Amino acid sequence: MKFDVAIIGGGLAGLTCGIALQQQGKRCVIVNNGQAAIDFSSGSMDLLTQLPDGKKAESFEQAYEQLERQLPQHPYALIGKARVLEKARRFEQLAQQIKLGLAGDSEHNHLRVTPLGGLRGAWLSAASLPVLAETESAFPYQHIAVLGIEGYHDFQPQLLADNLVQNPQFAHCRVTTAYLHIPELDHLRTNAREFRSVNISQLLEHKLAFGDLVREIKQAAAGAQAVFLPACFGIDDAVFFNNLKQASGLNLYELPTLPPSLLGIRQHKTLRSHFEQAGGLMLNGDKAQSAEFDGNRVSRIFTRLHRKDAIFADHFVLASGSFFSNGLVSDFDRIYEPVFEADIIGAPQFKQDERLSWTAHRFAAPQPYQSAGVAINSACQVQKCGRFIENLYAIGNVIGGYNGLELGCSSGVSVITALVVAENIAAAQG
Ligand SMILES: Cc1cc2nc3c(=O)[nH]c(=O)nc-3n(C[C@H](O)[C@H](O)[C@H](O)COP(=O)(O)OP(=O)(O)OC[C@H]3O[C@@H](n4cnc5c(N)ncnc54)[C@H](O)[C@@H]3O)c2cc1C
Repeated sequence: MKFDVAIIGGGLAGLTCGIALQQQGKRCVIVNNGQAAIDFSSGSMDLLTQLPDGKKAESFEQAYEQLERQLPQHPYALIGKARVLEKARRFEQLAQQIKLGLAGDSEHNHLRVTPLGGLRGAWLSAASLPVLAETESAFPYQHIAVLGIEGYHDFQPQLLADNLVQNPQFAHCRVTTAYLHIPELDHLRTNAREFRSVNISQLLEHKLAFGDLVREIKQAAAGAQAVFLPACFGIDDAVFFNNLKQASGLNLYELPTLPPSLLGIRQHKTLRSHFEQAGGLMLNGDKAQSAEFDGNRVSRIFTRLHRKDAIFADHFVLASGSFFSNGLVSDFDRIYEPVFEADIIGAPQFKQDERLSWTAHRFAAPQPYQSAGVAINSACQVQKCGRFIENLYAIGNVIGGYNGLELGCSSGVSVITALVVAENIAAAQG
């Protein structure tokens, strides 16, 4: 099998890169092993919300110089401010074009309401989420109803309501809570392990008396001006939720639940269907296992299902994610990238050969091992044995040198590096 580009990993980074490359006429294959982080994520994407010294970043543009000074190996610092901003705008356009249903822009972070009633900075959020501009002093509605689903434990209305009013932007609000019963869900209720957002949404979309649900929501809302619901309504896209909104005539908002997250799953499905519509080939359920090199280039990769019939390509993109997705693997005394055995780097506190430097003493503190990942240069080419491989690039969470959880930049790094690599490949000969 011969392609222009072979991408390993079909999460946010791999699919974004694949779509951009297909749009530029490159023939791509994505080898993908399993679920991706986006299936569990909040439905919001962060560009940069915090600096390494702990200061809040209100906008990427303002915070960039400090980031570059404090953490020069951060992928953004390698790529450079102007190109990161250009790619952020490019992703906003792409998201609009393929109808990812995201709101926000790279000029300023906005604040999104979290499932626990806190406020967190974000770059782009699902358009159905309750959000505020950083400068907005008060949420525009006074009476909010937070509605849970009876017996569903992955969303706690009372906890959310109690915390929400602690934020000055919600201090003027009266927040009431109530539960929807939805009789169609009764048989799921008998097994708590099956009473999850994915099962609920599948049952509601296909078996539900829609009019009854609308009536129940209206009744439970009890005249509230805004209604917050757990994201359990519509697994493929936001159509079912928007229909509910229209039929109820209420200001309905969705909030992410404990994972799995329908907001992320919808984004994943949309990205995947656009990659395939653009002519890309998805090899789902397959796993890249090893690679063969020809001098300073990768010549082919072998996968679990294609042990003999290797995949040849002009360019290879490693988009295999972090520990969560097995893009990185940890033994007791070694962290490694299993397909190419690329060089590993981390933030300054992390030392690959000092096991005790991998973790912080305080459980809730940022953990240095989370910054581990493959070493890249400004073109996102992967380093192996101290040399950059000509036709091998890394994108997304597999890249090392920064802690995306701590800095609030995980999805931003995924899409920015994906678009940078797509552009570099399109510009390269061969
Ligand atoms: C619970 C949770 C909440 C989050 N919330 C936010 C948030 O609020 N804001 C934000 O910005 N980010 C958030 N993130 C992070 C964000 O989702 C990730 O940064 C982003 O989705 C990573 O994308 P990726 O493509 O780099 O990696 P992944 O999504 O990990 O994708 C990697 C893919 O590669 C596959 N793979 C791995 N190895 C191989 C192999 N050898 N062969 C074939 N396939 C392979 C994996 O199966 C996986 O599908 C959250 C993540 C989680 C888990």
